[in-house]
Amino acid sequence: MEKVDLSIYIHIPFCVRKCYYCDFLSAPMNEETRALYVSRLCREISLAKEELLAYRVKTVFFGGGTPSLLEGRQILEILECLRANADFDEEAEITIECNPGTVDQEKARLYKKAGINRISLGLQSAQNEELKRIGRIHTYEEFLKSYQIFREEGFHNINIDLMSALPGQSLSSYEDSLQKVVGLAPEHISAYSLIVEEDTTLKNMLEAEKKKGKNSLPSEEEERRMYELTKEVLGEAGYERYEISNYAKSGRECRHNLVYWTLKPYLAFGLGGSSYFEGCRFYNQRNFKDYCEILEKEDRKEVFSQLREIEEIADEKNQMEEFMFLGLRLSRGVSKKEFKEKFLKDMEEVYGRIIKEQKEQGLLVEEDGRLFLTDYGLDVSNRAMAGYLL
Ligand code: SF4
Repeated sequence: MEKVDLSIYIHIPFCVRKCYYCDFLSAPMNEETRALYVSRLCREISLAKEELLAYRVKTVFFGGGTPSLLEGRQILEILECLRANADFDEEAEITIECNPGTVDQEKARLYKKAGINRISLGLQSAQNEELKRIGRIHTYEEFLKSYQIFREEGFHNINIDLMSALPGQSLSSYEDSLQKVVGLAPEHISAYSLIVEEDTTLKNMLEAEKKKGKNSLPSEEEERRMYELTKEVLGEAGYERYEISNYAKSGRECRHNLVYWTLKPYLAFGLGGSSYFEGCRFYNQRNFKDYCEILEKEDRKEVFSQLREIEEIADEKNQMEEFMFLGLRLSRGVSKKEFKEKFLKDMEEVYGRIIKEQKEQGLLVEEDGRLFLTDYGLDVSNRAMAGYLL
């Protein structure tokens, strides 16, 4: 019997220091702690051998945190461990997130040797002042150096992350960042709008500003224009907007992220990693000390029962909702045929009324058995997707 495809996420929870806007599970840690983590991570992977071998690994994603903060040989070790315990597709997409200033030629060479074939570089802005204001550790020049290193080492699939609506950012400085990135011709660009999260340094800074009657964030109108500009500049440069915030040259969509958006199975390893596997959503332990201690235990069953917290047994209603709102993030939308195969029901039977309404409102269109949001629908995607809650 042919094996089902599986994606793997590996969480590396270390950063040089915390960016002001960040609420991800990451922190600065010393070398010794990082080495301990790698050994526990490899143990977690080895213990999952039985689960892994039932599938065929199609994509791997090292995310964080800053995975490139680990030594190149540690990334090699993790990938060797994965290969020894899983069945890899020869063409598997293997991505690593890197921060400028944490990579050198030697590391890039080891990534290549380890089989990594996709790099995701977090630039965020090409303006040093803006980078400083959000607490990034690097300058634009350092980013350029890292980008150059990866190109020289033969990486032909690079993503660059950009952010809009940053403190002190203007429409023209954002346009300059966009143009500089486009000028480098990466294969993929992720362009997100800053979200100010609770309990972050940035949130406190903005509150303090507010008390003084100031506000360095762009206005809603400026933010909207940045959003329009992103579509315009990237579209003209030949990038296809295949997801609300993601743009790619033809055939260079991130296969790993497509798995998330199309509700296919993925298994996460490492601190706080979240999985969608065999109809279940679960999260790994988020406390570093507990994570490491649990992985010292002998019994495999005991380890996983303590390590993984089941969030939900995804029932049909839940899965239908997710199928719709994750799928509608994509410009190719959702397939009626796939819906029927998955849920043994016609999409119209479940969502007929809202589909009709949204078509009439110009939010949704149908072509060749697929439903997708129009440009206008994508612009108001939060409102449009809320309609698919059952
Ligand atoms: S590099 Fe990424 S994960 Fe690390 S602190 Fe900055 S935003 Fe957070």
